[in-house]
Amino acid sequence: MKSKVGIPRGMFYYDYYLLWKEFFNNVGVEVITSPKTNKDILNRGVHTCVDEACLPVKVFHGHVDYLKDKANYIFIPKFISIYRKEYCCPKHLGLPDMVRHSIDGLPEIIDTEINLRKSNKDLKESVIHTGKYFTKSSRKILKAFNKANNQYKEYSKLMSRGVIPINAVGVYEDLNLKTKVSTNNYKTNILLLGYPYNIYDDYINMNIASKLRQNQIKIITAEMLEEETVRYYTSKLPKRMFWSHGHRIIGGAFSLIEEGSINGIIYISAFGCGLDSVLIDLVERKAKEYKIPFILLT
Ligand code: SF4
Repeated sequence: MKSKVGIPRGMFYYDYYLLWKEFFNNVGVEVITSPKTNKDILNRGVHTCVDEACLPVKVFHGHVDYLKDKANYIFIPKFISIYRKEYCCPKHLGLPDMVRHSIDGLPEIIDTEINLRKSNKDLKESVIHTGKYFTKSSRKILKAFNKANNQYKEYSKLMSRGVIPINAVGVYEDLNLKTKVSTNNYKTNILLLGYPYNIYDDYINMNIASKLRQNQIKIITAEMLEEETVRYYTSKLPKRMFWSHGHRIIGGAFSLIEEGSINGIIYISAFGCGLDSVLIDLVERKAKEYKIPFILLT
């Protein structure tokens, strides 16, 4: 019988699901995901997770709780760093341990460490570590990953050409990679800003993307921008940005503000997010300087 790996629909799901799913499928493993966030998932998260955690971490716990008796493994990578000399939020790297200590009756957790702080070459080790749960052949594992990664790169290119990831409202796997954002008939361009797990989870953000679209507002997200553009704008900051997600949020916002491409910014933040307390202030100041309306939804 095929092994089943559960990938919870939260946190880094919105960045890397397609890559992981293809990789696991290529090594002969079935992937299952939890449903879109709903009341039941949120309740599960609130009951299992520690009170102090931010909302996305609680929601993630709810997704794991849903999957725990449906899969042989749950994939919860430990994200330490996704770029050289940069870090992820401490809650990203503590996620597998938090889950392990909060939820009873879990299957085995695949908690591969992703740490590219020193070199991208370390990714190879992480990939082999993950694949070894299912096959002894490192060659087969790397081949499976390279194939998945090529497909993922195509998807990433589409985002930079104006495709809203996850169909803008949270259904990554329903995205047929052709869901272009029409540039016609839109008089207002709004930057929907924040961490992917806040802006693409339509339960967390109360379906804001659909509401904006119904009002003929074009949504732009930071994920649509080229990496070089984002990094060019953060390189102008007086201090080096060492949070990878911070690059995308700050660089994305600054480029669109300075280039005059947006009419307003809606920043979606989770209550209790330490990183946002810094990022929001930087974006708000820049928006004020360029007289771009800014609203924070928490
Ligand atoms: S970046 Fe903020 S919202 Fe995301 S996990 Fe860390 S504290 Fe929570």
